[in-house]
Amino acid sequence: MRIPCSGIHIGLDSPDGDLPFLSHAHSDHTSGVKGAKRIIASEATLQLAGLDAESVKTQNTELLDAGHILGARQLAVEEDGARTVYTGDFCIKPNIFGMKAQMPQCDRLIMEATYGDPDYVFPPHEEVHGMVRRWVSGNDSANLIIGCYELGKSQEMVRILNECGTAPVVTPKTDSFCRIYEKHGLKLDRIVVGSDEAEEAMSKRFVALVPMGKAKRYFANRLAQAFERKTLCAVATGWALHYRFNTDAAFPLSDHADFNDLVEFVEQTGAKQVEFFTGDGSSVLDALKAKNGEVINS
Ligand SMILES: [Zn+2]
Repeated sequence: MRIPCSGIHIGLDSPDGDLPFLSHAHSDHTSGVKGAKRIIASEATLQLAGLDAESVKTQNTELLDAGHILGARQLAVEEDGARTVYTGDFCIKPNIFGMKAQMPQCDRLIMEATYGDPDYVFPPHEEVHGMVRRWVSGNDSANLIIGCYELGKSQEMVRILNECGTAPVVTPKTDSFCRIYEKHGLKLDRIVVGSDEAEEAMSKRFVALVPMGKAKRYFANRLAQAFERKTLCAVATGWALHYRFNTDAAFPLSDHADFNDLVEFVEQTGAKQVEFFTGDGSSVLDALKAKNGEVINS
């Protein structure tokens, strides 16, 4: 997908155009722009994506905070007297670092609707943080593994655990992302698996963050045998609100807008035309029609 701007076309998380915009560093968005030497993106996004590209600005464009993860931005473009906003992935409620999406004004909105299902309304972030902390303190004789995406969710989880006095064991990949968060002023106390510090920490009870695919009972059982200690597993993802993972606990911690946020966002932007690049936004538009009687083109 691309949009025209001042005589060129800007590719939206896509190589389709003269100059790409990269909304954030999750791999499903970076894959199309890997070879580009000039990219419209925040410095943090280029660092997290490991891209050796120049961060450029162009006329008639503006980058707006998107929440979601460090460096995530929305793109606003003015062309022929109309304003178009592309959100990338976004979250309007502040995460544990205080990151949240700005509310833009626009005529045309190109947005995500990952949770465009009315059943996906998340509890407040603080409530989910409390669930995690109670699980960690309530199982203080067991080793705990928590599955989270290594970029974004893991850094939130490190901070949630730090605030209850726990420094989790993390993978080298998660650690590399944590280092970039720290470069941007967000302190994260963690222990990298394989280090001397981890060996010492793992001789006692520990909490570890693992990739989502490892947060399984078979893996917990293997760890229980290796460390001779009861081991429990959990996942942290928005899908945990309704999807039953085969784990001991599941925390609905999301870095996306939930259904009500999507409705509020579209309403606040004032957009008369909305397109969804991921998820099904039809229920969002139906909810706005029921609320305001307003039909939005999609
Ligand atoms: Zn994302």
